[in-house]
Amino acid sequence: MTALEKFKQLFPHLQFTETDFYVGRFGTCYKNEFLDFNIETFMSKVVAFSQHPTDCEYEWTGPIHPAGFPLVGVKLNGKRRMINVRRLIAMVSEQDDLTGFQVLHTCKNPACLTKDHLGILEDPTAGKPLPWASKTGRKKQND
Ligand SMILES: [Zn+2]
Repeated sequence: MTALEKFKQLFPHLQFTETDFYVGRFGTCYKNEFLDFNIETFMSKVVAFSQHPTDCEYEWTGPIHPAGFPLVGVKLNGKRRMINVRRLIAMVSEQDDLTGFQVLHTCKNPACLTKDHLGILEDPTAGKPLPWASKTGRKKQND
């Protein structure tokens, strides 16, 4: 299975254009700005399980924030940022920047990316200026 096929399983509601296929990247709008990440790189850090002790279907093998959420580097407006992978998945699935909502996991697995295990919770303080998970780590790299 190619990275793109795996990616489409993880994001079943997405619609792709020829351009997405061609450049191997996926973009989603965040407040009229463009979030950019590489599917191959992204999917190389995702493992899928047919059976898992806590029924998690997908797990992140990339970095995990000490507070217990998976992190991925994306580009926003040409600048690299670290973002909560679960938040990214929820933003893409809901087609919304989710300002005012927290994205949590409902299982006990910090690396979990399973869509059914995502919880979206209303929180007026969240998402302003979230969704960036980490502002302290990795400040400037090759902007
Ligand atoms: Zn889970």
